[in-house]
Amino acid sequence: MNKKDAAQFKKLLTQRRTEILNKVNAQKERDDAEIIVGDEIDTASQNSEKEMYFELAAADKITLNDISDALAKIEKGDYGTCECCNCAIPLERIKAIPWVRYCIQCQEEAERPKK
Ligand SMILES: [Zn+2]
Repeated sequence: MNKKDAAQFKKLLTQRRTEILNKVNAQKERDDAEIIVGDEIDTASQNSEKEMYFELAAADKITLNDISDALAKIEKGDYGTCECCNCAIPLERIKAIPWVRYCIQCQEEAERPKK
């Protein structure tokens, strides 16, 4: 990947990371506010909402981790390379998922059920 493309993806990744961090912070503020309102809220719906937040936070954690790894790869100059087979990941795939780690072949291989 050339430096110009890498710089663009770096910008994209940094933006995405900021978005997720802002969202996580907003959720945290909401959670803190809920403690104050307390008994006013129906407990059942509160619990399911909390579970949803928890799942969301877990997915965000993974994405944040992938983004920081991708940024590290840009610094090292091996961004856009499959972590499994070292081939160059097609630009279209990187555009769809800028923090993608594997080429389509390796991804499919990993997701295929084991015999
Ligand atoms: Zn691969």
